[in-house]
Amino acid sequence: MAQAEKVLVTGGAGYIGSHVCKALAEAGYEPVVYDNLSSGYADFALWGTFIHGDILDTGKLLEAIREHEPAGLIHFAACIEVGESVKAPGRFYRNNVGGTLSVLEAMRLSGLRDLVVSGSCAVYGAPESVPIPEHAPLRPVSPYGASKAMMERLLDDFEAAHGLHTAVMRYFNASGADPEGRIGERHVPETHLIPRVFMAAAGEIPGLALFGDDYPTPDGTCLRDYIHVNDLASAHILALEKLRRGARNLKINLGTGRGYSVLEIVAKSREITGKNIPCTLMPRRPGDSPALVGKVERAAGDLGWTAAFSSLENILGTAWNWFVRDRERREFHLRRAPSIRA
Ligand code: UDP
Repeated sequence: MAQAEKVLVTGGAGYIGSHVCKALAEAGYEPVVYDNLSSGYADFALWGTFIHGDILDTGKLLEAIREHEPAGLIHFAACIEVGESVKAPGRFYRNNVGGTLSVLEAMRLSGLRDLVVSGSCAVYGAPESVPIPEHAPLRPVSPYGASKAMMERLLDDFEAAHGLHTAVMRYFNASGADPEGRIGERHVPETHLIPRVFMAAAGEIPGLALFGDDYPTPDGTCLRDYIHVNDLASAHILALEKLRRGARNLKINLGTGRGYSVLEIVAKSREITGKNIPCTLMPRRPGDSPALVGKVERAAGDLGWTAAFSSLENILGTAWNWFVRDRERREFHLRRAPSIRA
């Protein structure tokens, strides 16, 4: 039997990276996970090979590329919390910009050509209107968004100078989980809406803090474009395959083109969980844009991609299933802890 082609995945033990590794394995590739486990989890690295490494270590990346001879690289490893980026911008620029530079240098030195990266709608900042097309100006309003915009610039320059082929996937709100419940969203601390809604449903927090209800939106709460992580995964593989066929410099929004308000998410979550979800109105969260919804026709046209998993029912249903299972796992570890210590 022919050996499976390998794909190197930085940050492959994280939320989105692990779902991409699962999809790669299902598509017949062998993922090679490269992760320093600073925010990823060893129990998410379930497919392919695992290398414990930091993206800032160009030598180790180069070694991984030379040893495994991957067909391409998908780069996720990055800092992701917008609020944190305001408080500690240095870490964001070091990991997201310096880290991407290190990945690009390793690719240049090894001759590896094709690169798909995890981008963000945060590069658009607070746009005047939605849906946002890819040609909208990049005016990030947070260090996180700025680091992702800088990353895009690095890719453009390396592509022009060194012949790399690159694709940037600009995600809207990644959400949902593996339908089998093996991997999902697990951030510490958790700040994202859907997991916070579930924490309120499960009684882990007294209620959801609702950050503002006076936005210029239909119900006054912010609108976001929620995209299922499995749909993100399939888009990365399609993009990599398109680069391998010769495409270059792709910039692609990944969303559904439809926005849901915070209150709509809460209402649907009450239905799906069958739980009461108390909400407390709080002031607006600094840096929140009233509406972020993507124009997503390019992904369909250029990649032949559809957001097949991204109905709100499926997003919330798979996320809740994961939340409940992961909670059992956490409690199991907590119960075991005393006997381990004894
Ligand atoms: N949000 C909220 N309460 C929370 C967390 C989030 O009201 O505990 C709101 C937040 O203000 C934003 C939306 O939910 O309008 C989505 O926030 P999230 O952090 O999930 O994603 P973001 O769009 O900021 O990347």
